[in-house]
Amino acid sequence: MLAAPDLAWQGPRGGLPPLGSVTAAALDAHYRAEVAALREVALAVADDPAPPSFANTLVPLQMAEHALDQAEALLRHVRNTAARPEDEATLADLAALRGVAEDELAWHPTLFARIAEIAGQEQLTTSERRTARLVLSAMRARGAGLVRAKLTELKEINAQIAALEARFQANLLADTTQLHAPVEDIRTLAGVDAAMIDVLQREAQTCGVGAPYCVPCARPVVDAILAQAENRALRERVWRMWAQRGAVSNPPVVAEILNLRARKAALLGYANYADLAAADRMARNGDRALELVETIAREAVKAAARHEERLARLPQARSIGSRIEPWDRPFLNDILSAGERGFNAAQLSEYLLLDSMIEGMFWAAGTLYQCTFTRRDDLYGWREDVSAWEVRQYGELIGVLWLDLFRREGKRALAWMDCYRFRLASRPDEPALTAIHHYLTPPAPGEPVLLSWEDARVLFHELGHALHALLTVVDHPAQGMAHVAWDMIEMPSQLFEHLVTTPEVLGRFARHYQTGAPMPEAMQRQLAAGGIFDPGAFVLSLAGPALVDLHLHRMGPDSVVDAERVERRVLAEMGMPRSVAPRHGIMNFAHVFADAYAAGYYCYHWADVMVADAIEVFEAAGGLFHADTARRFETALLGVGAAVPPGDAYRAFARREPAVPALIRKLGLDV
Ligand SMILES: [Zn+2]
Repeated sequence: MLAAPDLAWQGPRGGLPPLGSVTAAALDAHYRAEVAALREVALAVADDPAPPSFANTLVPLQMAEHALDQAEALLRHVRNTAARPEDEATLADLAALRGVAEDELAWHPTLFARIAEIAGQEQLTTSERRTARLVLSAMRARGAGLVRAKLTELKEINAQIAALEARFQANLLADTTQLHAPVEDIRTLAGVDAAMIDVLQREAQTCGVGAPYCVPCARPVVDAILAQAENRALRERVWRMWAQRGAVSNPPVVAEILNLRARKAALLGYANYADLAAADRMARNGDRALELVETIAREAVKAAARHEERLARLPQARSIGSRIEPWDRPFLNDILSAGERGFNAAQLSEYLLLDSMIEGMFWAAGTLYQCTFTRRDDLYGWREDVSAWEVRQYGELIGVLWLDLFRREGKRALAWMDCYRFRLASRPDEPALTAIHHYLTPPAPGEPVLLSWEDARVLFHELGHALHALLTVVDHPAQGMAHVAWDMIEMPSQLFEHLVTTPEVLGRFARHYQTGAPMPEAMQRQLAAGGIFDPGAFVLSLAGPALVDLHLHRMGPDSVVDAERVERRVLAEMGMPRSVAPRHGIMNFAHVFADAYAAGYYCYHWADVMVADAIEVFEAAGGLFHADTARRFETALLGVGAAVPPGDAYRAFARREPAVPALIRKLGLDV
């Protein structure tokens, strides 16, 4: 199937996607045609009178999937980075199409029987067997083998879920764009640093609220206000604005998604959706995931309470009154940090120039995996504020990385990595195409961009995902990184994120934006332990949503009426302190209701158990940049995609099982 001329991937080596010019309207016909092409190939395969073989069945199917993967990358790109309200319906329709087609194919009895037969054939290579089994298990998860009456119901449920997930995301995007906190009087902004005030002033000019300053609904800005603003009422207003995203429009959407997911799990023979989601993961079932998060949360509750006692002793806390609220904790932390560590968040950020941190993360990737990143302004950058980088390993071209780091209208208020094309062993000249998308505040012309510590971590985290995509080479798309077990997927990114805390990176790349002086060693030492000042609250901010997600997805059909009540109950039962805000409220939990993390937000903790253990493996061998250990990590885990089951991949690297105590130590919850 040929792409519409304006959607063709131009250039040599498989070309580059037209990210700058793709529109929902152009995508409409193109994407429908690509889905139809997959269907056509699959039906021809099913009708093939020749006896089933890997070559006549899975090879054509996998190549058709690969072509559709690329079209889907364009669709994700428009939905996530350039969505316009008027395209919402078209994009939601398109987003549902592939699922419908894949359901139809999974439910095709001849096709299913053919693949089941191939999976049992003795002459397969190890790689072919793995692919056949992965495809088969994906078909079973879609209901292959179910009786027809159940299939009709499943079909309906899937279509409804896809439409509701699209609605959830559109509602969230609308709130992110529309919610603002205007500020009339500069005195209200006491404590806020000059660069941030500048941002608020520019925001006011573009958003048209009629006030001289305006706080947009963007996490980096919200975080800065919460940490810096002395005016408690302003902090509360900004915090509530952020927490309120989705609160009005999403409750019915969430309840319906949860009920439909529970019905789907029941149809497929699982006790609940958490068990269905975990079936192909390392956790195997929802109980194991729950147990892990609860164990970590118990330690974190104690650590958070110890930390809160220290906050409560601050003179500024006494003026707040009897109760520290979530809009107070970041502010008090900043003061306590300045007193105990000798610097606050704004002073730290003066050493975190965006360009230097980019250099630092590329240096770390180069040291570990012999990758080089060369800026190519002649390469397709698709927007003026997006830079394109050519990635080579041992001198050989392996990929392209785009850095799309600034917020704009129509773009999700998140940081994420996307992979627009994976590397296939059979197409060695086609590089991986990856991008890091973020939501940083665009700088004023000529001004440097200073990152918060959080955003510096996020940048390294996303490069960790990008390296996973860049270094993975597989035989078939089914083994690609997109199919890595969900509780392994955050492991390489969180391991790489940890590197930003090392003296190797900070010592070389953290320099004062005005004087160029290196970051003081005392500051480096404070950050070396992981750099999280209030680790209990940090862990709970993730563990809270992870537990809410698991509990909601362990409920039966039609039992979730009020998800917010469940959220309040779960948070109360886990002992979530009042002063700690969950990183995501249930009504704006895009990971779970618009992305692939349903019953899977625990993956961050699961991955972190492996990361903490892996750090100890590296350190025992000689340090986090130890060359032989890095090579073993790359060959055993980072470069294998889903070709190797995740538990086997981890054991091949670490030569042991990971355990929770290493994580408790890494997070500093034991001090
Ligand atoms: Zn991640």
